[in-house]
Amino acid sequence: MGLKKSKALYEKAVGLMPGGVNSPVRAFKAVGGSPLFIKKAKGSRIYDVDGNEYIDYVLSWGPMIVGHSHPAVVKALRSAIENGTSFGAPTPLEIELAEMVLKAYPSMGKVRMVNSGTEAAMSAIRAARGFTGRDKIIKFEGCYHGHADGLLVKAGSGAATFGIPDSPGVPKAYAKNTLTLPYNDAEAFKGLVDREWKSIACVIVEPVVGNIGCVLPKPGFLEALRKETKKHGLILIFDEVMTGFRVSYGGAQAFYGIKPDMTCLGKVIGGGLPVGAYGGRKEIMSCISPEGPVYQAGTLSGNPLAMTAGIETLKILSKKGAYEKLEKTMQRLEEGLKDAAKRAGVKTKFYRAGTMFCTYFTETDVVDYRTAKTADTGKFSRFFHGMLQNGINIAPSQFEAGFISLAHTPGDIGKTVNAAFKVLSGLKE
Ligand SMILES: *Cc1c(COP(=O)(O)O)cnc(C)c1O
Repeated sequence: MGLKKSKALYEKAVGLMPGGVNSPVRAFKAVGGSPLFIKKAKGSRIYDVDGNEYIDYVLSWGPMIVGHSHPAVVKALRSAIENGTSFGAPTPLEIELAEMVLKAYPSMGKVRMVNSGTEAAMSAIRAARGFTGRDKIIKFEGCYHGHADGLLVKAGSGAATFGIPDSPGVPKAYAKNTLTLPYNDAEAFKGLVDREWKSIACVIVEPVVGNIGCVLPKPGFLEALRKETKKHGLILIFDEVMTGFRVSYGGAQAFYGIKPDMTCLGKVIGGGLPVGAYGGRKEIMSCISPEGPVYQAGTLSGNPLAMTAGIETLKILSKKGAYEKLEKTMQRLEEGLKDAAKRAGVKTKFYRAGTMFCTYFTETDVVDYRTAKTADTGKFSRFFHGMLQNGINIAPSQFEAGFISLAHTPGDIGKTVNAAFKVLSGLKE
């Protein structure tokens, strides 16, 4: 299998863009080697510039839940493009997508479209601060909410420390308003909120943590967040940028039966185009400009192509049987991967919520950032490269979730499981 063209392009790209990429995790830094340059994708398959074909479990990091280049999405986009790509004025398409989103997420009374998950989380927090008149926020270690200043904070030694930025360039003055806690630690959360609620605007959480693999909420954890925030008037924000329309059509909030005050969406609702959204209770969203004083805007927000891709994707997903099909495919893959690891004698832990999943190379139960870090990243890297050589594309990091789409067939799953067994068998020593 040749990778000559990808390698040559990477060498060129490195001179043009930081690390040769426009988003860091694409660069294979966590697993070594150089990234594949992609030419096209169709259904469950992705093709690199050297002509290699892969079964794809990255799916553009989640959005392509109906499969790449779905004919209905492509057709609608073709027709939308003929009418112009952006007007900077309202269109009926924005109403159509907003209605679909609000119907699927009854916790939201109103929604605002933005261009990325980062914008959604950043703007939701601004709204929560504007609404409550408080400055501090609570986030959980290992949860990713985009790269806005003040959200690039994860490290907290002890129960509640003032935030220390993860990235140079984030002023300490910003980060100190971010309080961090271990995910799944309801006691620590209750303690912090009881002590400091008067200065805390909101709590933001990935209801299932997809940005350290796939970490599930312990029974009672999300309930505790809901209870304590309600008690003290804090805004509970579910960042469902990854879990929205993924864990179920109604996201993690429908799956776990918890009603947050605000929700962030992204990834799937854009159907592969840049879209994010945030929404929540009407009285909170009424604070947003021009209805209220909290400013937030976007030249390309709600643009007709992005809305079209989102609408068509959600239409396909809302058809009867779509999630049953996804679930069936997922079960097949789960059983296959677990069985392959067992037969190969490699100790792993597998987790999933709906069709986001992760296999950790560890014997420890993964419940938070610390336990996720027990995974053997060296072993993962060898697994990753082995799978790639066998025509299976998984995310190039142990700490990313995998995804499946409606386009994945039982045949795809069979090939994947066979490859996994072969590669895992070679990892034993
Ligand atoms: C991907 C992601 C984001 C950031 O979205 P972008 O579109 O990459 O800015 C935010 N929160 C969560 C939970 C995500 O998975």
